[in-house]
Amino acid sequence: MMSTIDTETLTVEEIYDLAFNVLNKFGCNKENASAISRTVATAERDGSLSHGLFRIPGYVASLKSGKVNGNAEPNITSSLPSVITVDGNLGYAPYSLEKSLPVLSEAALKHGIAVMRLINSFHFAALWPETEYLAERGLSGIACTVYKPSVAPAGATEPFFGTNPISFAWPRKNSTPLVFDMATSTLAMGDVQIAARDGHPVPHGTGLGPDGKPSDDPKEILKGVLLPFGGYKGSAISMMIELFSAGLTGDNFSFEAAKTDNNDGGPAKGGELVLAINPELIAGPDWDTHSEGFFKEIKQLKGIRLPGERRHRNRLDNSPRKINKELLEKIKGLSES
Ligand code: NDP
Repeated sequence: MMSTIDTETLTVEEIYDLAFNVLNKFGCNKENASAISRTVATAERDGSLSHGLFRIPGYVASLKSGKVNGNAEPNITSSLPSVITVDGNLGYAPYSLEKSLPVLSEAALKHGIAVMRLINSFHFAALWPETEYLAERGLSGIACTVYKPSVAPAGATEPFFGTNPISFAWPRKNSTPLVFDMATSTLAMGDVQIAARDGHPVPHGTGLGPDGKPSDDPKEILKGVLLPFGGYKGSAISMMIELFSAGLTGDNFSFEAAKTDNNDGGPAKGGELVLAINPELIAGPDWDTHSEGFFKEIKQLKGIRLPGERRHRNRLDNSPRKINKELLEKIKGLSES
């Protein structure tokens, strides 16, 4: 049976205004409120619904609890020409990223490769905006971050890894960049929650029940633990993300984030690693023709689509976006409270 979900329509500009006003009301200054609202509005524009307005109640909760500084001004330093540190000063990631990504891309355009560690920051968004920014400037990008434990490493039955997302982008001179952005759990936590609410089973391998046994029942998995995608191989990628995002940045591993977080429903403090690579300086001037040959070949295979194509197609649609009515009422309630 098809389930019908009540929605209301808002333009992308109205989504931005709604987000800005509520964030500003609860303590974000203009710079932070506008950077987050741009992230939220572009997520809704592209159909990244789990990281659009859906995140506003969490942002507000972490402003109300005093965990995050809505007036934070990031501090950007370079210990080496290609190593950039951005101290978010306990603010949200979007404003720090808005100020630091141009510095990272300049460094990679000049030196061939540059790495940025964002520390003392709260990341509650998708990662594709950072890698896509780099690809739009002719650079390949990789970004990753960790969260609080909800995923059992291969062989274990207890949560230790976060859902640990990673994004990769490759620039294309005459096309939108190739971008993937994915959690390293088999299913995102939000998808399991939605399946539990709607009474649908989840694919085998999504998680374990509270007894440590594999389960396809999302309600049991919510009492138990998620699993990494692809068994021990996905588990290894998730471990790499822990080491890049925490070992290399010096900020929290997922297990450390859980110890210090106040569980207010907002993001946990953590680090993000962003790597920018310049194919022009590394592979030479033929890099674009060569990789376009690869894309031409792969696109001839029946049944495939490139990651990022769904989002880029959504972006071309100028009509208002459908927003879950219950969520909208919750946010409007916050702005009127
Ligand atoms: P999905 O599984 O929906 O998609 C993962 C990637 O695969 C996307 O790039 C998507 O491209 C691509 N894709 C999907 N279907 C196909 C297909 N049939 N063929 C080719 N490519 C495909 O994402 P997740 O649920 O794993 O993650 C959702 C978001 O959650 C991410 O943006 C991630 O950054 C975010 N996240 C953030 C966290 C944080 O702490 N900040 C924590 C965990 C997750 P397309 O977009 O075009 O569909």
